[in-house]
Amino acid sequence: MNSRQQMNQPVALNPRVLDVPKSATLAINEISKQLVLEGRDIYRLGLGQSPFPVPARMVQALQTYAAAKDYLAVQGYLPLREAIAGYIQRSEGLDRHADDIIVGPGSKELLFGLQMALDCDLVLPTPSWVSYDPQARLLGKQVHWLACRAEDGWKLNADTLDRHCRKYAGKQQLLILNSPNNPSGACFNETELRDLARVAAEHRVVILSDEIYSELHFQGRHQSIARYYPAGTIISNGISKWAGAGGWRLGFFAFPRELQAVLESMVTIASETFTSVSAPVQMASISAFEESAEMQDYILACRRIMAAVATHFSERLNHHGVHSVMPDGGFYCLGDFARFSDGLRVQDINDASAMCRTMLQETGVAALPGQDFGLGNGLYVRFACVDFDGHRLLQRLLEDPTVEPGQNTPELRRVLIAADRLGDWFENL
Ligand code: PLP
Repeated sequence: MNSRQQMNQPVALNPRVLDVPKSATLAINEISKQLVLEGRDIYRLGLGQSPFPVPARMVQALQTYAAAKDYLAVQGYLPLREAIAGYIQRSEGLDRHADDIIVGPGSKELLFGLQMALDCDLVLPTPSWVSYDPQARLLGKQVHWLACRAEDGWKLNADTLDRHCRKYAGKQQLLILNSPNNPSGACFNETELRDLARVAAEHRVVILSDEIYSELHFQGRHQSIARYYPAGTIISNGISKWAGAGGWRLGFFAFPRELQAVLESMVTIASETFTSVSAPVQMASISAFEESAEMQDYILACRRIMAAVATHFSERLNHHGVHSVMPDGGFYCLGDFARFSDGLRVQDINDASAMCRTMLQETGVAALPGQDFGLGNGLYVRFACVDFDGHRLLQRLLEDPTVEPGQNTPELRRVLIAADRLGDWFENL
């Protein structure tokens, strides 16, 4: 057999990778691209990317450090880890030090490293962000989805967690909590956090608290569950969402001393995989975590804009008969289209994935089906309410803080039109 014939033999692929189902996100992206090529105007409510520019002070810092070329410490650049520890101290009142922090190329990569480091099952509230479950599958872990209800604002209930932990008492459980939440926009309040913390402590659950949208709590009232369960909580955060810098690829985990061994394992994994985050990005990111009037003004303006978008988007959906729980923070809104199930069935549309594909063709609105977030049954759709002119509106608010973003704000027109287009189409099914 010559070498070309040999290459035509099937290559042995890792069955764990083959087992991860293709996300509906890909299908939506493919159809979107095709429709754009055909000249259609597509409302991009699929991808959860910040609509706001990176703050000027971070951009200037990146320019300053562009020539930095050395590999940095695997755990992260020390002055950056000091700035992050200071940020956690200020925002949560928690005593975490530079030594307790690891910096990675996005919190997503760190999440993968954490799941690799722990011999655990993964516990996810339903619904949860799209990547936690596939990461666990890639690593051959068992995943338990715990049901949550729209009536509870899609938030995990402490009794549900307790029942689960009693059933799986023999195995370390890793619970991922995400607040503000993707996809629902829900945020835990203090009582809910205390209840969950009590149960988690009782069963020695490790909590990964995904706080990537922390600064986008509309009232600025985000709290970490680490306040109430410090010994068992790892905080995950970064600059992707509230500092608009997803493409910079920088996230961090903050560990309690009690989980030092897990941190050390993650440093080993980091040293054998990504080595360190790019030096200029780490150096420039210090400016995101240091206390500054500029970051405060930026974050406040982003919150005010996102609160207005969420309120009006959700209200419009509800007005058209699409039930949605009003978000408390972040970029997202989860709509329940159950009311239209009869009309959809007539068109042979029986699940949210099929509905999202048809919705995109018919209305030009791209959004993700609930299935991607663990909502297997039902006609749920997640909208990333970010298709609007965030650059211009942010600039206007920074120049004149008396500007009130609302439903007549010209920069917000696109995203609100998208809600009306959907409503009109569904009402006329
Ligand atoms: N966690 C949640 C809930 C997210 O929505 C995202 C990104 O969309 C991430 C984590 C990943 O963020 P990063 O850019 O830090 O990898």
